[in-house]
Amino acid sequence: MNIVPETSSRVFNFSSGPAALPLPVLERARDELLELPGCGASIMEISHRSEAFSRILESAQAGIRQLLDLPENYEVLFLQGGARLQFAMIPMNLLAADSHAEFIVSGSWSEKARDEAAGLGTVRTCWTGLDGAFCQLPDPAELELDETASYAYLTSNETIQGVQFDEFPATGNLPLICDASSDLLSRPLDCQQFGLIYACAQKNVGPAGVTVVIIRKDLLERSRAELPGYLNYAEHARHGSRYNTPPTFAIYILDLVCQWIANEMGGLAGIDQLNREKAELLYDLLDEPSGFYQGHAKTSCRSRMNVTFRLPNPDLESQFIQSAAEQGLTSLAGHRSVGGIRASIYNAMPIEGVVALRDFMADFRDKQMEAT
Ligand SMILES: *Cc1c(COP(=O)(O)O)cnc(C)c1O
Repeated sequence: MNIVPETSSRVFNFSSGPAALPLPVLERARDELLELPGCGASIMEISHRSEAFSRILESAQAGIRQLLDLPENYEVLFLQGGARLQFAMIPMNLLAADSHAEFIVSGSWSEKARDEAAGLGTVRTCWTGLDGAFCQLPDPAELELDETASYAYLTSNETIQGVQFDEFPATGNLPLICDASSDLLSRPLDCQQFGLIYACAQKNVGPAGVTVVIIRKDLLERSRAELPGYLNYAEHARHGSRYNTPPTFAIYILDLVCQWIANEMGGLAGIDQLNREKAELLYDLLDEPSGFYQGHAKTSCRSRMNVTFRLPNPDLESQFIQSAAEQGLTSLAGHRSVGGIRASIYNAMPIEGVVALRDFMADFRDKQMEAT
């Protein structure tokens, strides 16, 4: 499989999002950009109600369903507004006025989601990792969740801090809501654990502009008719994600990404295996005894998507980022709120890119340690 096109100055791009897309997907989109086969027009120029786009929408929904082995009682919606709009839509649709939402706050994204929900209803923080600078996660078995709540909420992978849940709390009748923006389709997942699971596409699933919302059908009954139309899940479900014009180009790319995972990467089991190997390459280096690199996350909750670490001081971190970029390893700066280094190694990052980063890191460390 191609990793780098023949005449190319494409870099190994470690951007956290929008992030690298699989090269075969970009090449196919390039080849079809002017004329979608059989259409005589670009995907961007045809009606969202045309037969050609209907096929793409259906294929994208089927792609998500097949990869995740979704049962019939879940609806797959393609919405706009990114993950951020879901921070508001979830409480607007699912949080009863006389009840509250339980939040597991494991990093910046769950914190923001909780704060948004707090403006729309009552929330309770049932666990927070704030004291440890969000380097750890709760043991799912030890969480004390109030089952009278409307739902419990967590973030499966905290993109900024680099902590990722492997197992989720069993919540019984309490619907569990999951922001999987940065790890949906990176590993097999039993979606039946969740009442609603969602992901903005621009990390692992496609380009910015579309958000995948997977919702258990019985929860659609909670959406009140008084909600503004666009903010009502039931309305989107009733219209098959065509309540208004959906982001057609983004859905087209998402469909190609699903096909790439299914046909070229061995499905979610195959991509998971590869993602584990990639992450291990970097974590093994962080664990080596010199201590030059300090990983942020506790070992037990390390993210396989976003590897976060520090160097001995911020000056060295700037040097690291700059000299990596000179070698074609780009976008390694940590989120502006936390600093440090973050290597985002989503599905589309080939293992060759991770090996190149690992080798660069070893080399950079050796040179610095010789100098001191
Ligand atoms: C990127 C990200 C978001 C924010 O996504 P937007 O589409 O920019 O709103 C929310 N949650 C997680 C886990 C993310 O990685």
